[in-house]
Amino acid sequence: MDGSPDVIVIGGGIAGASVAYEIAAHRSVLLLEAEPSLAVHSTGRSAATYIPGHGTAVFRALIRASAPRFPALAEELEAPPFLRPLTVVWAAFDEAGERELQHLLAEWAAEPDGPHALAGAEAAGACPGLRDVRCGAITEAAADVDAIGLHGAYVRGLRRRGGRVVRGARARAITRTGGTWRVETAEGAWTAPDVVDAAGSWTDVVAALAGVTPAGLTPYRRTIALSPCTLPPGMPMLIDAAERFYCKPEGEALLLSPGDETPAEPGDARPDELDVALALERVEEALHLGLRSVRTAWAGLRTFAPDRDPLVGARPEHPGFHFFAGQGGSGIESAPALAALGAAVVTGTPVPPDVAVRPEQVSPARL
Ligand SMILES: Cc1cc2nc3c(=O)[nH]c(=O)nc-3n(C[C@H](O)[C@H](O)[C@H](O)COP(=O)(O)OP(=O)(O)OC[C@H]3O[C@@H](n4cnc5c(N)ncnc54)[C@H](O)[C@@H]3O)c2cc1C
Repeated sequence: MDGSPDVIVIGGGIAGASVAYEIAAHRSVLLLEAEPSLAVHSTGRSAATYIPGHGTAVFRALIRASAPRFPALAEELEAPPFLRPLTVVWAAFDEAGERELQHLLAEWAAEPDGPHALAGAEAAGACPGLRDVRCGAITEAAADVDAIGLHGAYVRGLRRRGGRVVRGARARAITRTGGTWRVETAEGAWTAPDVVDAAGSWTDVVAALAGVTPAGLTPYRRTIALSPCTLPPGMPMLIDAAERFYCKPEGEALLLSPGDETPAEPGDARPDELDVALALERVEEALHLGLRSVRTAWAGLRTFAPDRDPLVGARPEHPGFHFFAGQGGSGIESAPALAALGAAVVTGTPVPPDVAVRPEQVSPARL
């Protein structure tokens, strides 16, 4: 790409990389990332799971539509497979968990690959070491996602399509003159008729820079720890239906989270010791694996719109300034379909029929 691009994408996480790749099939694209490295914020800190039936109806549709797109993308981008099969078991330990599980099962009823119900003894049998469980659910259609592999493949694909990536280029001033946006960074300034704000937890900060009304996005901190242990054979991912913890095998360790959701400012999230201790205690109480210590812990931000649906497109009063945000806890598992939807909205091309979500369902105008 020489000279001014057609589209400037701000933010080099999975959101920015995936939508930039899809847009580059139609337009010239410049991707700007504030940090010296890509994917160091939410994208590099996720649990990297693909779980059919996760999230709002819109996210469930995007996750479903992404299932065949993951292998198709791996082929298109000449990358190894992005998904590795994973069994997920949900367990309800008390009345609150049981109520939540019934609610989830009602939502999953229409999901072709959605989880199905298990009685208490069946749930205990589906997860080694699991005790005192009232009832549960299971799916074998979930997967571990190679999130960093997927992100890297999108970036390579973007470059192959003639796109340019500039790191250390935090957008610090955004102005509009005539029909053109100008984005200023320490690495230079660029103009384009379209800007995509894919800055994750900073999306509203970037919108405010451009004089665009923020969307009311809220970042929430989530903590993950790795606890070394001898994993029983056949260990699935286990999720407490009441969302007090989840855990899954990760190499020679168990990855654990207390399912925390603490409102935070955009930034470099750090784990809180109390959240790490809670994760260890709750998983140990459910599984009795003898977990005593954590090898490492980290935290990241999951950023949601007020209705928890994704945010894609421009407000009529700010044409050409497109949000691509609000991926919450589903930015990896929904990336292939959401990026295709985002590119269609930004370029004004038809939404691919398999995506099955209409632009008005994700438009900022709904908020
Ligand atoms: C603990 C945890 C577990 C998760 N587990 C899962 C899971 O199992 N499955 C799943 O699908 N999702 C999961 N998620 C959610 C997923 O990680 C996010 O939805 C996704 O990574 C969001 O991607 P993003 O590109 O929007 O944000 P980010 O990866 O944060 O990228 C935004 C980028 O914008 C850049 N930026 C900010 N301001 C500017 C600026 N002014 N100029 C230029 N660049 C800027 C930042 O530096 C950053 O690199 C999890 C998240 C967390 C925190």
